[in-house]
Amino acid sequence: MTGGGGAGTAVERKDSGTAKPAPERDGIFIKVPRHRSYPGDESSTFHDVMSHGDSRRLWWNTYATTAHETHHHANALVQRTFYLGRPCSGFYVWDGRAAIYPEPRFLKRDIAKFVPRSLRDDRFFYVWGQWDSDEFPLYVLDEWIAYITDAKVIAEYAYLEKRPAGYRTGEGQGCIEMMVYGLALYRAIQTHDPKYLERNPDFREFLAFLCCETLASYEVTQRFPQYRWQPEYLEKTFRKDPAAAALRSILESLLIGSPSAARIAFGRTFGPSVILAGRIEGLD
Ligand SMILES: [Zn+2]
Repeated sequence: MTGGGGAGTAVERKDSGTAKPAPERDGIFIKVPRHRSYPGDESSTFHDVMSHGDSRRLWWNTYATTAHETHHHANALVQRTFYLGRPCSGFYVWDGRAAIYPEPRFLKRDIAKFVPRSLRDDRFFYVWGQWDSDEFPLYVLDEWIAYITDAKVIAEYAYLEKRPAGYRTGEGQGCIEMMVYGLALYRAIQTHDPKYLERNPDFREFLAFLCCETLASYEVTQRFPQYRWQPEYLEKTFRKDPAAAALRSILESLLIGSPSAARIAFGRTFGPSVILAGRIEGLD
């Protein structure tokens, strides 16, 4: 063993005594323990999120909203626990896993121009609005992840939520809209801070992971009529609007190797011919 880190070794750290042990990792993720014990079905997303965060209210009208709001707290806990010493955002990504990334060097408002007008929907205010988070472009991911939790929870609790017959809600579709804003964030990074992807080489994989989680969770919610909300947003506008071509191209490149997610996103899979045609970014 060389260069051991125990007390009395030759190399002394300036912050000796306060350094935290390196967190245990799982691929690109940091493993995190539960924040608190919480009653209920430990196999559910609701329980997963509720035991890794602690919202200031016990209950927010529905299982989905309660988990969504608590997820923001779980994200904040990750940010505080693994703070990078500079502006950064932390994310709890289910199953005891987390990630933290420094903020890219532009404003959140710079993302807006990469969102085609046809895809600016009810949640666009998270991109153009919420000005106190303008210096934190990754705030868009904080919301996106909370909306994925909405979709996961309503799929798992579809019957318990007891929506009145004929009542429809967009809680399943919200993660698709937020995914679009996440893809626009990626465009903003490519344009305004392209070195970000060199400094954070696993960020692309992180976004690909979020896209797969989004599409898989959304697909399950769409099996319940009460959650089939504005399917044309994905199935028509995103897939067909010429103004969305750049975002589609990014999503295609992120979903290589994930054919089931690609089929949900595009209604088809795509193979080597697309790659050879040079439409895929980020490949040599
Ligand atoms: Zn939220």
